[in-house]
Amino acid sequence: MDCGSGLLLAITTRMRTIDEGQVMMLHTRERSVLADLPAWAKLAGHELLAVVDRGGGSGPWELSIGRGHSRQRSSAVAPEVEYSSGAPAPLGTRLWLYSNFHCNLSCTYCCAGSSPRADARLMPVELAASAAAEFAAQGGRELLVTGGEPFMHPDLADLVAAASAQVPVTVLTNAMVFERGRRRDTLESLSRDAVTLQISLDSAGPGLHDRQRGKGSHAKALAGIRLARELDFRVRVAATYFPQDAADAGDLDSTLNALGIAPEDRLIRPVAKEGHADTGVTISIDSIEPEPTLTADGAWWHPVAVTNPHLKVADTPLPLEHVLDVMRDVVTVQEAAGAQGRTVFRCT
Ligand code: SF4
Repeated sequence: MDCGSGLLLAITTRMRTIDEGQVMMLHTRERSVLADLPAWAKLAGHELLAVVDRGGGSGPWELSIGRGHSRQRSSAVAPEVEYSSGAPAPLGTRLWLYSNFHCNLSCTYCCAGSSPRADARLMPVELAASAAAEFAAQGGRELLVTGGEPFMHPDLADLVAAASAQVPVTVLTNAMVFERGRRRDTLESLSRDAVTLQISLDSAGPGLHDRQRGKGSHAKALAGIRLARELDFRVRVAATYFPQDAADAGDLDSTLNALGIAPEDRLIRPVAKEGHADTGVTISIDSIEPEPTLTADGAWWHPVAVTNPHLKVADTPLPLEHVLDVMRDVVTVQEAAGAQGRTVFRCT
């Protein structure tokens, strides 16, 4: 069988007979299963653990699939958490740039897989400037610079200046490394009119935040938020946690009130099952609205999916027009398939 002719139904039925964490092994001689089954497993919240070729490149193959739990768990507890939502940004109006991938932290849920040891993959200033210029010329409205920790990019001041000369820019940061020295100079150089800072703060107290992001990180993030506010930046604060940890976030609104963060500048996000996170929201081109994302070495469907080879849109970040055209073609096909729906096959 291939996946479209009954195999998925057979697997789904068998999966319901095993427990979370148990493994199902599938034997197949059908090559297309090697491409289709991993995609299905990801969507269904299961994990493809191994693929063994018993025939020297021509099959048969044995695939081991671990039964997951993310879908069941999130649907069971989702009503308790009100994650931020909103209308999708029309394709081409928002652009993400990964300035770098290394970070002073190594958060348990980091979708980019960042850490102090991660390959920096620095985005050259010229690349960012060209991307911003092309983006603005095509009607782009908002550019977001993320990482890794962007303030660890040695030329962040120039990179953001080049971008914010074209369109408003938001820089996502953990706010822990710009208190003094050259990075403080970078911070102070940024335009207050054209640059917003988005700072991560997962909980009112240190408990959940430090558990997810490292001991002592909550106090430093608070200090960073206060500094950014003193320097007159517009500050947006984003919290990230699993649904089951919502209670541990505490009274975040009271903390943000005290810090002077406007209600419209508060964001709560779920963890995506990408990068360091082995559970969380499953990301696929069918489930997540496209948000074009450029790194130094490619283009991706969404900023939370830059470690996922299945969501790479192009092997080079520019020209942006090519990246956007590929994404528009995919969306067109998805919409056509959705409009077409399933065919009724009447037998009576
Ligand atoms: S989530 Fe942000 S702060 Fe944490 S490791 Fe990743 S890039 Fe660094």
